[in-house]
Amino acid sequence: MEKTTVETMRFLALMVALFLAAPAAQSWSKEGHIMTCRIAQSLLDEGPAEVVRNLLPDYAEGDLSSLCVWPDQIRHWYKYRWTSPLHFIDTPDKACNFDYSRDCHDPKGTEDMCVAGAVSNFTTQLLHYHHGTSDRRYNLTEALLFLAHFMGDIHQPMHVGFTSDEGGNTIQVRWFRHKSNLHHVWDREIILTALADYYEKDTELFLKDLQNNLTQGVWSDDISSWGECEDLSSCPTKYATESINLACKWGYNGVTQGETLADEYFDSRMPIVMKRIAQGGVRLALILNQVFGDQKHHHIPPPT
Ligand SMILES: [Zn+2]
Repeated sequence: MEKTTVETMRFLALMVALFLAAPAAQSWSKEGHIMTCRIAQSLLDEGPAEVVRNLLPDYAEGDLSSLCVWPDQIRHWYKYRWTSPLHFIDTPDKACNFDYSRDCHDPKGTEDMCVAGAVSNFTTQLLHYHHGTSDRRYNLTEALLFLAHFMGDIHQPMHVGFTSDEGGNTIQVRWFRHKSNLHHVWDREIILTALADYYEKDTELFLKDLQNNLTQGVWSDDISSWGECEDLSSCPTKYATESINLACKWGYNGVTQGETLADEYFDSRMPIVMKRIAQGGVRLALILNQVFGDQKHHHIPPPT
């Protein structure tokens, strides 16, 4: 194995160790990311599935979802501080739309530094796998983890929110009896309450329900339309536009500072959260199947 690969793997192992010791991340919950990645990995074609397994470090044991929260854990590290603006998009207050050239930049105005730009950038990097990973500018393992993570983030409606309230972060609310904020309600509270109320706190049961909705339930007719978009730049714009529309219609709408959100809000928003988790997974699989598809694999087929 190449020295750089070993170093990267050690580095990633260290990150995971630190992550396990770190407090809960302030982002689309661990559970949301894990389910998006689990759905995606279950929908990969054989060739792309093998590429994904090859790109994962050994300790992930072939499970993409085990590292899907990694980009949240390292975003404040010096080396990765540049990735921090890549988790979200700030849009003009009340505009309720997304304009890539207007909105996709970091606070300093650097272009493409937002979650939509990140999705297309890391997808482009992964296309270099075709060229035998010889391009040293790119670390394809990291590119895969970033893409998998940001496909989750871009589908969380409040990750495409208003600028002045930081995507709902400064809107303090109560979630049933405890203090929270509007961003966290969408990142974590709805998912955690759903897990507690309906799934015995078991992510596997939650995931099974999502999979059933995809194959024989409420979404099975929609799935083909989820994949509709032209290319690398229009797809992330579509996802982000959907998110800000949902944020306006279901996230912000009627919520005031200090309000208590409970049953009514939970019941009406939970289906949206579930759908966005699933959409992120289905679309991540579509991208990976495309990027890692139609290429020659020099592997020994398993014995039959
Ligand atoms: Zn994130």
